[in-house]
Formats: sequence, C-alpha cells, structure tokens
Amino acid sequence: MTDILKTNKQGVLTVGDADVSALAKEFGTPLFIMDEEHIVQNMRAYTKPMYEEYKGGGLVCYASKAFCIKEICRIAHREGLGLDVVSGGELYTALSAGMPADKICFHGNNKSAEELAMAFENGVGRIVADSEEELFILDAMAAEYKNPPKVLLRVKPGIEAHTHEFIQTGQEDSKFGVSLASGDAVRLLSRNWEHLALAGVHCHIGSQIFEDVPFITAAELMVKLLDDVHKICGRYLPEINLGGGFGIRYTEADQPRPLQEAMRATISGVEKACEKYGVPYPFLMVEPGRSIVGDAGITVYTIGTVKKIPGIRTYVAVDGGMADNPRYIMYQAAYDAVLPLQPHAARTEKVTICGKCCESGDILIRDILLPEVRRGDLLAVLSTGAYNYSMSSNYNRLARPAVVMASKGKARLCVRRESYEDLIKNDL
Ligand SMILES: *Cc1c(COP(=O)(O)O)cnc(C)c1O
Repeated sequence: MTDILKTNKQGVLTVGDADVSALAKEFGTPLFIMDEEHIVQNMRAYTKPMYEEYKGGGLVCYASKAFCIKEICRIAHREGLGLDVVSGGELYTALSAGMPADKICFHGNNKSAEELAMAFENGVGRIVADSEEELFILDAMAAEYKNPPKVLLRVKPGIEAHTHEFIQTGQEDSKFGVSLASGDAVRLLSRNWEHLALAGVHCHIGSQIFEDVPFITAAELMVKLLDDVHKICGRYLPEINLGGGFGIRYTEADQPRPLQEAMRATISGVEKACEKYGVPYPFLMVEPGRSIVGDAGITVYTIGTVKKIPGIRTYVAVDGGMADNPRYIMYQAAYDAVLPLQPHAARTEKVTICGKCCESGDILIRDILLPEVRRGDLLAVLSTGAYNYSMSSNYNRLARPAVVMASKGKARLCVRRESYEDLIKNDL
C-alpha cells in the first residue's frame, strides 16, 4: 500500500499535495481528508466511457450513501454525474447542494409516503420501484402529478458477488427487488400500467467486486429481460441501470483494475448482449459509490494509550474508532494505516489499533505492522472515503469529525467538526 502514498519534500504524507500533519494541527483529529483531484479522476473513469464511447447514451449516478455531504454532490454535478439517493435525507442533501432533480435516482425498499411525495414534488427524474406494491402506489401517484418520475423496477438477478466470489444462485431471499426467476419481473414489466412511466430495469449485485464476469452476466440478464418483455408486449423498455459495486484497494490484498477498464468491460457486456438478443442499445445507468470516494479519503487520528499485554497483544488506542468507522465491528473490514510523519518507516511492531468507545469490538485494524508508536503520534488510516463518515454515529456522544477537501496543496473545510452543543441540540 505504501507504494501509492504521496509525500512532500520533508517526507510527510500528503493528500491533494497538502501536508497531512499540518491539516491535523489546523483542523484537529480525528479528521477526514479527501483528495478532490482523486475523486474527480474516479468520476471521469466512469463518465468518459459512458458519455464518449457508449452509443446508447447513459448517465453515471454517484451512489451518495457512500459519502453524502453537500460538497460531494456539488463535485458530482460539476463532473456531469447524477445522484442516487435512498432516503428523504439524502434527497434533501442533494437538492440543497444544487443537484438538478431530474438527474436524481431515488431508491429504497421501503420509501415512505412522505419521501415519495417529496420526490414527486421536487421533480426527481427516476424512481426505482422495489416491489409490486410500490408499483401500484407509484401508478396511483403518477395520475396526480404533472411530470411524474420515470420508473425502473429493481429485480433480483440471482447473482451474488462479494469481492472475489461470484455465485449465480437464483437466490430469492433478499429484501431488495422483485424476483426474476419466478417470472414476477417479466409480468410486472409487461403489464399495461395506466399512468406509470415505466422506463426500465435495475439490478445491483453486490459491492467490493473485482471481477468483470458478474457485471457482464448481470448486463446480459437485464438485456434478455428487455427482450422477454418485448416478446410479450411488443415494446422495448428503454433503460437499464446496473447499480454499483466495483472494488477498491483497502490493503495490499486488494488488486482492483483501473476503473475505466472495468467500466469498459461492463459497457461491452451490454453491447454484446444487445447484439445477441437483437435489442436496441438501452440508455445505460451505473451507480458507483465506493469506487468514487473510497480510496480518495483518509482518516487522521492522534494516538493515545499504548497498552502492551505481554505475550498477547499491544493495543494502540486512537481518539476515534467505531463511531467514525464502524466497518470493522460490522464486518471485520480490513484497512491499512501509516504514520503521516514517517509513512515509509520500517514496520517492526505488530499492534491492534482500537478506538475509545465502550465496546471490546471497537477495533479499527487488528494485527497490523507499524513502526513503534507513542502517545501523541498521528496515525492515518487509508481508504476511508466510503462508508465511514456516512455510517458514523455519536455513540458515547463522540462528536463527528470534520471533513476537509484537499486540492493543489490547500484544504477547505467541507463539514465542521460537531460541537458538544450540536450533540444536545435536539434534546428537550
Ligand atoms: C450500495 C448501492 C450502490 C453503490 O454500491 P458501491 O459498491 O458503493 O459502488 C449502488 N446502487 C445501489 C442500489 C446500492 O444499494
């Protein structure tokens, strides 16, 4: 991992050419530092193939749940991306940041009546229906609004992919989507809806996936579904949304391909399937989240207690933990970390990095090799841009960290650090 680290002349870790230790001093720790240039490059790895090469036209929607703050929405808009939201809160953030409503795609397996009304009233471009029940709700709502959103139906493609494993199970036990295998999807998509603007199909097969095959397989299944619907009702639904899921590098064990290549492989999968089934190229959507922001962010902590338990383990405690990064406690996610002041120093000590919350499972990294550390040292955990801040909590009434965006040696504050006053502001 250290081979991709950037440092300045003094050998200090930099993000967006800004000195990480100086930012820690200026903004305090824990601190999320995002590399703006890197985010932009990740976005362009999708938009270039999609907008300049794919013949059917398309839209790249950033899956905002990965990291949903106004500044990311603004960058996505500037780079020509749309946005995928799954709640009224994410929708509100996107609209507040100036994301045009027609480029927003609204997901969720249990959207409330208030959330749906909010989407219709604000002119959201697309809604992904998650069930037969919701299609009926949307059909009724479409009768009452002038410019109702286009509707896609989320289907269970029967593909499950996690990192290096890919299985075609026909798995039906999921809270998301409508069954493809049972024929439900074809039936609902071929139905003559009275008011609904049915635009196409959606699937999302998993996350942190490194192989092309699952995406190509999903693309083929979706194109075949358009063909099946056409056979029944003589109409090609115009859109396919293939969700997100490309993997990123957390540790040396992860070896993702360049995003642009992965995107091209997916596009070519769609094109080949269209030729195979004689289906016109659909308008194509993808919804990357993790791969846009994940490897563009780090979290900087200050080390406190170093507890050596002879013969057992050394705990290195930092001033954050599961409240700002619950991914270890949730699914034993792996991360790498370095000391910003000496990122390339020899790693001689095996330690476990833990947080300061009242849970034994409050671990950030188990059994990592680091140089010897002491109280007061800075520690940077790498690739924390996705599903960290967005999953953070106030457990133990820890205040959420600040977020800064670094670019060309400068950093600007994008989210203020929470204050104690913020923590009690809704308490009566
Ligand atoms: C989570 C999710 C995404 C984004 O997935 P990543 O793995 O972060 O790219 C996209 N679409 C849907 C429907 C999702 O649930």
